[in-house]
Amino acid sequence: MSSARSQCSDRVVGAILASWRYDISGISPEMRRDYENHFVECARCRARQKFHRSLDVSLAVLTSTAALFFLFALAVLKHIRPLEHVAFKVLGLDIYDMYHMLVSAGIAGLCFSLIAMALVLMATPAASYLSGIAAERARLIERRLPSAIKSLRPR
Ligand SMILES: [Zn+2]
Repeated sequence: MSSARSQCSDRVVGAILASWRYDISGISPEMRRDYENHFVECARCRARQKFHRSLDVSLAVLTSTAALFFLFALAVLKHIRPLEHVAFKVLGLDIYDMYHMLVSAGIAGLCFSLIAMALVLMATPAASYLSGIAAERARLIERRLPSAIKSLRPR
């Protein structure tokens, strides 16, 4: 098992797949068949493909979480905005400057994480992979529905 994992059964195909980060969703179906066969027979490439797809999904989750975090931070800052004027009057300019620095940082962070998320979704098959999982799950739920409910649904 461990030797099958460490050795690729076809090094030429394996090298091509590695250069694509084991993503064959972009190539034509007739070309894809050879690579799909390789994934079936080669445990090493199959493991690599799984690793790279989970990496893509992690990146997509990470960047969208960052975007949500900055959105949340901006919402909090907007919420404490009435305090800004009090702070400005009572404590002077420092707090006022800090508030605007935080807002700018929040906006910059939000823009940066949105760009990063867009890049991840464009450069990796994470989006199609995730929608594939969603479709698979929907099919699974549909199959589990009791037939009584199924017959009620319009077709
Ligand atoms: Zn291989």
